[in-house]
Amino acid sequence: MIPVEKALDAILDHVRRMGTERTDLLHSLGRVLAEPVVSGRDHPPWNSSAMDGYAVRHGELSQASEQHPVTLEVIEEIAAGALPQKTIQPGQASRIMTGAPVPEGADAVIRVEDTRGEGNRVRMVQPVEAGDHIRLRGEDIRAGNIVLAQDSTISSAEVGLLASVGRSHVQVYQRPRVAILATGNELADLGDAFSPNKIMNSNGYAVAAQVIEAGGVPVLLGVAKDTREELVDRLTQGLSADLILISGGVSVGAYDFVKDVLGELGVTMAFWKVAMKPGEPLAFGMLQAKPVFGLPGNPVSTMVTFEQFVRPALRKMQGHALLFRPVIEAVLMERITKKPGKTHFVRAVVKKTGDRHEVWTTGNQSSGVLTSMVKANGLLIFPSESGEIEKGQTVKVQLLEKNFSSQAVPGY
Ligand code: AMP
Ligand code: MG
Repeated sequence: MIPVEKALDAILDHVRRMGTERTDLLHSLGRVLAEPVVSGRDHPPWNSSAMDGYAVRHGELSQASEQHPVTLEVIEEIAAGALPQKTIQPGQASRIMTGAPVPEGADAVIRVEDTRGEGNRVRMVQPVEAGDHIRLRGEDIRAGNIVLAQDSTISSAEVGLLASVGRSHVQVYQRPRVAILATGNELADLGDAFSPNKIMNSNGYAVAAQVIEAGGVPVLLGVAKDTREELVDRLTQGLSADLILISGGVSVGAYDFVKDVLGELGVTMAFWKVAMKPGEPLAFGMLQAKPVFGLPGNPVSTMVTFEQFVRPALRKMQGHALLFRPVIEAVLMERITKKPGKTHFVRAVVKKTGDRHEVWTTGNQSSGVLTSMVKANGLLIFPSESGEIEKGQTVKVQLLEKNFSSQAVPGY
């Protein structure tokens, strides 16, 4: 039995990045860039106005005030999208809209609110400084510069930036295809006729959903009976995937053949058991370059071991630098106890109260109680060597990013 940290290290050591592919811009969201992106243009492409106002020569207005207004002749109106036709000479100004190019001769823009217009003349009642309200050409992005480094994660701001440099497609790391096989004679699948002595294959779907959340593409292999033949047969169908997940059958029961079958298929096993709860029986190995996980069958164990080990592996395969869920500190609102020797991941509800986070367990921690996973928005990390934590102590909670947004208007 190896500690959680060692298991994670071993897994991440074995896992390699996927190849790359070209994708259209919106489908790049959430993925990792596999190329540096260089801008072919300046942005803004010209000196442009940041305000609706007048393009002026600042020197003429250095003394302007309500008492001593400076009156200028308005020689043209420049809308966004139009090009200026005239050069500003002394005594002149052009009406200009936000985003329009600043005309020759002008070196500042004065906001329309700070002027008094009268026909083709305008009275300036405030001084301006050189450069006021002008966005300089290339101020945001310069042609030839790298605007996004390789390995950047693409979020909405990156999508905007890529569009602003004209990229409709980008090169990203591929999404891993993940074969998912549920095992157990007791299992029925969605669509099977109801039978009172079967339980539903919930793991196949919970794990498929976790795969999607982690950026992968699930390939459902259905349910295999607890026989060597059926396990080999089904697993063989999944061999073209980039990663293989099996749920159940990895324990020490008389029908737990998964370990043997993985051996027969040529999987080199790294470990069988991790000192954690839920989830102690957890097998990990490699079939050449393909990671293979035997997850425990109990629905909570399956999901929790996925969170701890499979999700980071899938993220590494997709090129992400940040592999783990955020962990916060929270004040424990009830006393908890356990036997030392295993790391417990306690299903928990964490709330922000005032300027601190408070955390409660969801109660029953049986690894078969999937409803407790539904209630939980975090996993409280109860360290291996610890046997009890008193109410009021600070603990670490891994956020599952669920039910954690606030309904209240943020106070900032
Ligand atoms: P096992 O690891 O095969 O001994 O399974 C442990 C427990 O998890 C048993 O109670 C199984 O019925 C249950 N279980 C195994 N696979 C699934 C599954 N795909 N969906 C829901 N429960 C399962
Ligand atoms: Mg089983």
